[in-house]
Amino acid sequence: NTKIMEEKYILSLDIGTTTIRAFIYNSRTEIVSKAVDHVILHYPQPGYVEIDPDELWNSVVDVVNNALQGAKLTAGQITAMGISTQRSTFITWSRESGRPFHRFITWKDLRADKLVKHWNESYLWKLIKVGAYVLFMVSRSKRFKAGSVFKFSNNQTTLRLYWALLNVPELKSAVENNDAMFGTLDSWLLYKMTDKKIHMSDVSSASATGFFDPFTMQWAGWAMSLFGISPDMLPMVVDTAGDHFTSTAPAIWGQAIPIKSCIADQTASMWGSCCFEVGDVKLTMGTGTFFNINTGGSPHASVSGLYPVVGWRLGPELVFSAEGANNDTASIIKWAHNLGLFENPEDTADIAMSVPDSDGVFFIPAFSGLGPPYNDCTAASGFVGMKPSTNKAHLVRAVLEAIAFRTAQLYDCVRKETNYTFSTIRMDGGVSNNDFVAQLVADLTGLKVERPTEVEMSSLGCAHLVGLHLGIFKSKEELTSLRKIGSVFTPRAHVKKSYDITISRWEDAVKRMFGWYN
Ligand code: ADP
Repeated sequence: NTKIMEEKYILSLDIGTTTIRAFIYNSRTEIVSKAVDHVILHYPQPGYVEIDPDELWNSVVDVVNNALQGAKLTAGQITAMGISTQRSTFITWSRESGRPFHRFITWKDLRADKLVKHWNESYLWKLIKVGAYVLFMVSRSKRFKAGSVFKFSNNQTTLRLYWALLNVPELKSAVENNDAMFGTLDSWLLYKMTDKKIHMSDVSSASATGFFDPFTMQWAGWAMSLFGISPDMLPMVVDTAGDHFTSTAPAIWGQAIPIKSCIADQTASMWGSCCFEVGDVKLTMGTGTFFNINTGGSPHASVSGLYPVVGWRLGPELVFSAEGANNDTASIIKWAHNLGLFENPEDTADIAMSVPDSDGVFFIPAFSGLGPPYNDCTAASGFVGMKPSTNKAHLVRAVLEAIAFRTAQLYDCVRKETNYTFSTIRMDGGVSNNDFVAQLVADLTGLKVERPTEVEMSSLGCAHLVGLHLGIFKSKEELTSLRKIGSVFTPRAHVKKSYDITISRWEDAVKRMFGWYN
């Protein structure tokens, strides 16, 4: 009976790629207050994408203060907090002085591209992969199968960290003197918030670096030997929720706030959408698109480029996720907006529906290459098939259709590679507000699409973890019963059929863009 109990407040801090958000929830997971700030991205050279640690820290302090003010609460009245962060963005700093050796090198940064290409092509790496394949044939161990298909990529941390170890002289000498510390965004934030008390990362953030072995659940020995990553600089890898994160230093927000959970954003949003059962699927459509399936207790070794990530670990409960990602989604909406194709992203669904089709125009969304099933980072973007009759509404429709087509392709990879029967997709992220996209995703996948009333699932997921750990929520069933579904999009078979030819023409168009930047 909540009336006689004192209300409990959970603070969720969500550090995305473009925004920092702080939410305060009550014990019915209702939003009491919300504050937002923008992440300032620095582009010091082409391909470099950095975040300044001081700027980020100031924003974090401000958004939490603003959320507290909005709720008319003091830090001492917050029961506990959770943190969800963008993945694979990292920094290194001095153990002695706390001073960073460089800014955050984000997951979008391409400075290590030459190293990525070099290593994927190198004879040493090929030899290691052949070795892994032989071990797989002998042992039938999935770990070696995954090793034999593993490819380096820019959005994993490994080769960006290697780049820093090679190119930042201060870091190099600090590693020699055991003065270097490494942290992904979560790990650095925990270090700052607790006034240097803890150097930790949860299993989900660690696994997104690319050098955490999801099979042994330890930092990968091969990466440390190949790239000179010192084990002493790495954070301790811990459970996703618990008391080990301690509390924020009182000086930051006036009073200490206990930290009870820290998790990577995509798996946080699985928690927000209550994807607790094996085979549950969520689809986040924000800056990029991320399909995540709960694959239960064993990592999924993919052959088509789906990435096996650790979802979370809570004591004996270890959950993995197969992830299909497509880097360009809201980024395309933003670009089309800047170009002047429409005035508000919110209008695009109506604009697309104002024409019966795209007039034969196709859009290829490859600003950062094409992910699964193509895996071509040298593909070009573009419109194909424009005619004198083509107007802006056709272009808008082609853009939204391309976003839905790529999403359906990702779903196909997921479906072919796993043995689950899917019936529902739980959708979130900014672009999920778009009815045209949500309906087309339902039509093309043949699955019911559920959209919550609030689409900020990473923050909610964090609050779920914190509340469950503290007993504010009794069980996952209770969390599921608290889910607030706003809209349901039901698949229409005749629409899927009507898209058959369009999609095969669009696939032809996509293929013409392969290898453009080779
Ligand atoms: P992220 O968390 O990855 O930074 P969000 O999930 O917050 O991104 O998504 C925000 C973006 O979603 C906005 O920048 C906007 O481009 C896009 N967006 C918001 N509403 C709509 C809509 N109705 N239709 C299409 N795009 C939308």
